[in-house]
Amino acid sequence: MESFTGGRASLPPPLADPAAVGQQMHRLVAQLYPLCRSITGNGVRRTLDVIAESIPLTVHEVPTGTQVLDWTVPREWNIRDAYVADSGGRRVIDFTKSNLHVVGYSVPVRSTMSLAALREHLHTLPDQPALIPYRTSYYEETWGFCLSQNTLDSLPDGEYEVVIDSTLADGSLTYAEHVIPGEVSDEVLVSCHVCHPALANDNLAAIAVAVEVAKRLAEAEPYYTYRFLFAPGTIGSIAFLAQADERIEKIKHGLVLACAGDSGSLTYKRSRRGDAEIDQAAALVLRSSGRPHKLIDFSPYGYDERQYCSPGFNLGVGCLTRTPYAAYPEYHTSADNLDFVLPGAMWDTLETVSEIFGILERNRCYVNVSPYGEPQLGNRGLYESLGGRSDTKQAQLAMLWVLNLADGEHSLVQIAARADLPFDAISAAADALRDAGLLKE
Ligand code: ZN
Repeated sequence: MESFTGGRASLPPPLADPAAVGQQMHRLVAQLYPLCRSITGNGVRRTLDVIAESIPLTVHEVPTGTQVLDWTVPREWNIRDAYVADSGGRRVIDFTKSNLHVVGYSVPVRSTMSLAALREHLHTLPDQPALIPYRTSYYEETWGFCLSQNTLDSLPDGEYEVVIDSTLADGSLTYAEHVIPGEVSDEVLVSCHVCHPALANDNLAAIAVAVEVAKRLAEAEPYYTYRFLFAPGTIGSIAFLAQADERIEKIKHGLVLACAGDSGSLTYKRSRRGDAEIDQAAALVLRSSGRPHKLIDFSPYGYDERQYCSPGFNLGVGCLTRTPYAAYPEYHTSADNLDFVLPGAMWDTLETVSEIFGILERNRCYVNVSPYGEPQLGNRGLYESLGGRSDTKQAQLAMLWVLNLADGEHSLVQIAARADLPFDAISAAADALRDAGLLKE
């Protein structure tokens, strides 16, 4: 009797050591950090080019003016340079030092004006005087600069030269997909936003984690087909949903990945359904980690789960972050930099995603074909298979729980949660019971 050999392989164990993989993800974050991304433009394209050095991408260009669900693809924004210079020609605000200095989607400007007039266009964080804020103005034509309050306070009155060398013109919105075919065409979606400029945790760390997850899956011959989406926030996922039409029903599970590298503990935000399989898998992984974590209910506020979980789609898509959206002081500031994201934290996020997907891969719903009284396990060699194991008691309990709850209504992840046993133990027990003819799918 071949028992407890396990079912379908989980994601393969890491080949490299955590420190090396963590460093590799951090290097990708560092490589992407200087690119000036926005919801359209060459910063997004260059970002996708860099990602494509690790995993092949199918890139989509959606022309300006295209109707996507209730939205319209905006004009494309590109920027080459921007600065404010004092009367001596010294750049006191310099886009080439940080791309946060320019309000995203600023229209071109070339002018000279007094500090008083310029102030109308300056954004600071008075409560965090050393930091540069991140600001955008996608849908209102304006221009502006972001700078630290300290820098602003140091500027003497006088005339300043103001230059924003940008273009806002017909072009396209760019997003990309990477697909790993599985045994079945049912899909797991992994979605990352790629529209933020020099912000490391929001969202370069998640992009780096997604790339590593994709590399692992490629070696795993997965059961599900995995679709990775790298798209600008909101308009990008809306463009994807608008263009995916009949493919959307293939998406059975999904994760929005964001803020994957800060030192905070993990937070999983449930899908709008609240009890989707991914919600159950994520809860089981976080609870059984024995470490601090948060499980929070869906709200229509945050990242692109807002689109996937809009009522018309209502997909089983949750959102995994470390410290969530807007809940850390470095959020949307220049302090969300390369020092703020930690290789070890990205590794931890990567492992957690792998564990969640490992559960989805093996989660099944069985029916006990001998449900009247407990079946005799000894007759079927199932007790012998348990002998001598260090976890005999747990393995036996797992069998009893599976036999009792395998009524076609409870999946293995639900049984593991109810039994408060590791998913691996429940899954192994189900394999043994199935091999002994006591369960059918
Ligand atoms: Zn953000």
